[in-house]
Amino acid sequence: MSAAWLRACALVMIGLFSGAALAKTPTAIVVGGGLAGLTAAYELQGKGWQVTLLEAKSGMGGRSGLATSEWIGNSKAQPTLNQYLDTFKISTQPAPEFVRTPGYLIDGEYFSSTDLATKQPATAEALKRYEKTLDDLARSIDDPQNPAANSTLFALDQLNVSTWLDKLQLPTTARQLVNQQIRTRYDEPSRLSLLYFAQQTRVYRGVSDRDLRAARLPGGSPVLAQAFVKELKTIKTSSPVSAITQDKDGVTVKVGSVGYQADYVVLAVPLRALAKIQMIPGLDNQHLAALKGTNYGWRDQLLLKFKSPVWESRARMSGEIYSNTGLGMLWIEPALKGGANVVINLSGDNARLLQAFGDKQMVDQVLIRLHAFYPQARGAFTGYEVRRYSTDANMGGAYLAYGPGQISKFWRLWERPVQRVIFAGEHTDALYPGTLEGALRSGQRAAGQVQDLAAGKSFDPAKAATVAGAAATAAAASKGNFFSNMFGGSSDKPAKAVDTSKQEESKPGLFKRMFGSDDKPAAQPEAKAADAAPAPVAASAPVSTPAVAPVAKEEAVKPAPAKAPAKQAPVKKPVAKADQAKKTAAKATAPVNKATVKAEPAKKPVANIQAKAQ
Ligand SMILES: Cc1cc2nc3c(=O)[nH]c(=O)nc-3n(C[C@H](O)[C@H](O)[C@H](O)COP(=O)(O)OP(=O)(O)OC[C@H]3O[C@@H](n4cnc5c(N)ncnc54)[C@H](O)[C@@H]3O)c2cc1C
Repeated sequence: MSAAWLRACALVMIGLFSGAALAKTPTAIVVGGGLAGLTAAYELQGKGWQVTLLEAKSGMGGRSGLATSEWIGNSKAQPTLNQYLDTFKISTQPAPEFVRTPGYLIDGEYFSSTDLATKQPATAEALKRYEKTLDDLARSIDDPQNPAANSTLFALDQLNVSTWLDKLQLPTTARQLVNQQIRTRYDEPSRLSLLYFAQQTRVYRGVSDRDLRAARLPGGSPVLAQAFVKELKTIKTSSPVSAITQDKDGVTVKVGSVGYQADYVVLAVPLRALAKIQMIPGLDNQHLAALKGTNYGWRDQLLLKFKSPVWESRARMSGEIYSNTGLGMLWIEPALKGGANVVINLSGDNARLLQAFGDKQMVDQVLIRLHAFYPQARGAFTGYEVRRYSTDANMGGAYLAYGPGQISKFWRLWERPVQRVIFAGEHTDALYPGTLEGALRSGQRAAGQVQDLAAGKSFDPAKAATVAGAAATAAAASKGNFFSNMFGGSSDKPAKAVDTSKQEESKPGLFKRMFGSDDKPAAQPEAKAADAAPAPVAASAPVSTPAVAPVAKEEAVKPAPAKAPAKQAPVKKPVAKADQAKKTAAKATAPVNKATVKAEPAKKPVANIQAKAQ
């Protein structure tokens, strides 16, 4: 065979191979079957990619709440969500008028916004003042995608929301309601970056409560998840990913002893879950710090089922209601066969403190408080469901809620791919973190980035914020009028406010904090933002653990007074008792707790996080 002939054959072969390579269907693995992962997979598949979705659990949909008929926003509040609902022809029902504005449960008495203005004008006025001040703060952010645009705004990131609220000097009830709203939407005010709070308020500026609760989605977000699932070709459930290796040619994703290979991987898992996946090569220090330190809000949900609506005669409990007695945000769910369900959201430190309770104990505690307001509650009670997001290893928290100093360090970090690894999930969305909208948007963005990478586009490496330098300028800036204006005082120094560790730590009893009138957080956030928000597991062992159970039992079986006036303190009675019992038991357990804390320095941040919640 001549050399020329051989060369010709070789060229033909090369041509064939490269032709085959060109024709090869691009492949992607998506890790995580929540709405972010589902969106990324759906969008990639739609663009001709071969996608394999790996989900750790046996079911799909990730963090979907207990709500069987979720309130959702209209296209002004949640455009991407509404777009997918249209795509999948999922119908919604318009929300009744009375749920489109918030309600309040003050010492057991229900108030609509209008009632509040006439019956509790001081509280209503204070809430207005708070909203106006917050709006002023939000307006100071020009671009919510770049909230720390200048040193003054940067300085807001070093403060926590509680400090700012203190300066407003709201009357007690108004402050309790504000605290409850913030901890339900985000996290405990004392754990939340003021800049994040302002940025989120800026994002939703012009979006009213009416837009936010415009419709009901029958079946809740799982219905949307199922619509995605139906479209996807390859889904592997019960497949927890343990390691991801990437090189210049592709990625290998490990599930047990099985390795899946693809061109790219989309990691759509929450940060705590991501921290458990071994990355080869490893992530850089900034990513590792974000994995360890980014604060997640805590929110657990209880669905209490009743034979009949026990609250009807006392209050119209519908829509979203903020309680000033630690019952969290609650709303009525449709129930079958004439029953009545109420969803109670325990958020922020209230949720953290209850981690040590068993489900039944937790339900008992809530039922006691509800029973105090609605004396038929215990008799009509038929059962419950509890969902705890914060201690679920695959979830690791309810949703992202930046703590003080964290925007400065981690802003939009997860929007940038690390070579062949692309991140998705509510926590990666700059505008709508912590929401369905954010999860869906992040899935779309991730799918687009995979396409861009395949087309040869490169993304800038993450730019670490030079915290020290910016903090210095921020401190300088703080001497101006901005903070005085913000806080209404004359000598506010933001740098000082971040050091919350030295703030008073008056510790009212657990139940007083949880359900009583004193709405001080259990403790204070970490002094240094860098140490804030350790892993949620760490935050789970409230010192009061043993104190609570006996009280819960004792109280749970006690019949309620037949005519407890709603406004009175039927709630305070159990509170006081619980408090006392807690103190006694806390004494008994004190050495154990101390020993634990001392023996495990790693838990130091935990103690702090306990200190600190839509
Ligand atoms: C109590 C509560 C109430 C909420 N209410 C609302 C609301 O009213 N409106 C709203 O818009 N939003 C609400 N949200 C927020 C919304 O539910 C979330 O933002 C959204 O569901 C997050 O989706 P995700 O895909 O980012 O994450 P997830 O849904 O958490 O999905 C991540 C998935 O990854 C999987 N996973 C984790 N680790 C691995 C692994 N190693 N290998 C494979 N898979 C893994 C998990 O099992 C999970 O299925 C609420 C959230 C909570 C917790």
